[in-house]
Amino acid sequence: MLQKHKSQLTLLFITLSCIFLCQCRNEQKIKQPKLIIGIVVDQMRYDYLYRYYSKWSDGGFKRLLTEGYSFEDAQYNYVPTFTAPGHTSIYTGTTPAVHGMIANDWYDRSSGGMIYCTDDATVKTVGSPSEKGLMSPRRELTETIGDMLKLSNNGQSKVIGIALKDRAAILPAGHSANGAYWFDDATGWWITSSYYMKQLPEWVKKFNDEGRTNQYLSKPWTTLLPIEEYTESIADNNPYERPFFSEKSPVFPHDLPNLKPQNGGYGLIKATPFGDDLTADFAIAAIKNEKLGKGKYTDMLTISFSSTDYVGHQFGTTAIELEDTYIRLDRDIAQLLSFIDTYIGKENVVIFLTADHGAADNPHYLADKGIPGGFFDENEIAAKIHAFVKEKYGVDPILQFTNLQFYLNKQKIADNKLNLDTVEEAIANKVIEFKGVERAIPAYRLYTYRNDFITKKILNGYNPSRSGDVIINLLPEYIPYDTTGTTHGAPYVYDAHVPLLFYGGNIEHGKSAEEEAITNIAPTISELLGIQYPDGCTGEPLHITMKH
Ligand code: ZN
Ligand code: ZN
Repeated sequence: MLQKHKSQLTLLFITLSCIFLCQCRNEQKIKQPKLIIGIVVDQMRYDYLYRYYSKWSDGGFKRLLTEGYSFEDAQYNYVPTFTAPGHTSIYTGTTPAVHGMIANDWYDRSSGGMIYCTDDATVKTVGSPSEKGLMSPRRELTETIGDMLKLSNNGQSKVIGIALKDRAAILPAGHSANGAYWFDDATGWWITSSYYMKQLPEWVKKFNDEGRTNQYLSKPWTTLLPIEEYTESIADNNPYERPFFSEKSPVFPHDLPNLKPQNGGYGLIKATPFGDDLTADFAIAAIKNEKLGKGKYTDMLTISFSSTDYVGHQFGTTAIELEDTYIRLDRDIAQLLSFIDTYIGKENVVIFLTADHGAADNPHYLADKGIPGGFFDENEIAAKIHAFVKEKYGVDPILQFTNLQFYLNKQKIADNKLNLDTVEEAIANKVIEFKGVERAIPAYRLYTYRNDFITKKILNGYNPSRSGDVIINLLPEYIPYDTTGTTHGAPYVYDAHVPLLFYGGNIEHGKSAEEEAITNIAPTISELLGIQYPDGCTGEPLHITMKH
């Protein structure tokens, strides 16, 4: 039905106009770009594009906005808005209900414990003695754009994923990628796993040997611009930020060399803008050394900038630290675009930039302005619900409370002659009494529950074999998190509304105010390349104005 509906739409657009991307289907041969670069900025809210606009250089975000095509209302269409589901949805064109990445960690019924999305004990670390490389994309249930590209030409395209976070490198690149590289806290090196290769390429070894992580951590973090120019942020010393360990207050300059030993060693770089600088350096080295875009077939590079998320979590959305991280990321993007100009030319690349989710404002900060919001203590609610069911039924069938979902032991419920639906309902009815809860839905009622935007997003994030049995949604600006900094995960716009920019190739400058689901990115890239959509795709191609 969906396919039929789509082809009817396509016909309609072809007859209506010649400016739509889908008309490219009618051309005799699609001219594929030499290189596709997907950029995900971790935790970048839509409004940051304009909030920091006066601080952008000419060559970075401003260039993408003034030369590219911007979708101003790109939205996540599921919950929870976390990193693994976000990156996977961008590149697979579908939601966790189909691709299975329901969170970063979840309760695994078969092993009876928590698992991490990309954990894989069957592989080995490549590039360091640490265990940080025991990772693969095997739990990602569907194909990515990179997989489709490789399937389209008998594996001739090169596909590579890069991010400080393992999941943000692995999940976008997909199952058949040539490589995915992420950061090893123990050594400060870029590593991979035996899923991809037996040993690091020479250029990666050489990059690691240069010791850039150490260089970036060898001097204090001061603001790039004079600190009094950071007028989009609140005072440097404010109560909504979390200082680094051993730091008296969360203020500049952050003395990185002295903070390093007590803040995760090399891992400290992740919560500074220099983690993004290192990522950009490494991405450019990958393009050069792998000769991406220089072969006969289209190549693909997926880059995720993770430091924006670490800094956002620690310092919140109003911090000078966050503003400085974005100002420096803008220079990284400018460096990348300028490199592409001389390397293969803008016309031979297609770049898209988006985010895996946004972020809430710190609830204390909002409260100080009289705006509703609050903190939700997951441990407290879990303890109270455990006690409630024990008291009510004489047994405790709760296996786990995680990602705002209760997992129940169905066997125990049956053995005690209890009814699963009744137990789910009782928990949901109790949970709704707690402050900050907007709704709690028993899983068996998901398909018949009030069908508003929140239930739709819960359904799109619900995977029956991986999700829990009672699903909670919180009120706007309530976060299950520390009282300093911030987090994300909600269905509301602050977490769901992200930038979406396309640039390069034949793409003309323009913008659209139409609401678009994040799942439309993958079919758009597929259509640009004239290749099949990823197998689980539930999105449809975006209409971008193209030059002819
Ligand atoms: Zn994220
Ligand atoms: Zn995060």
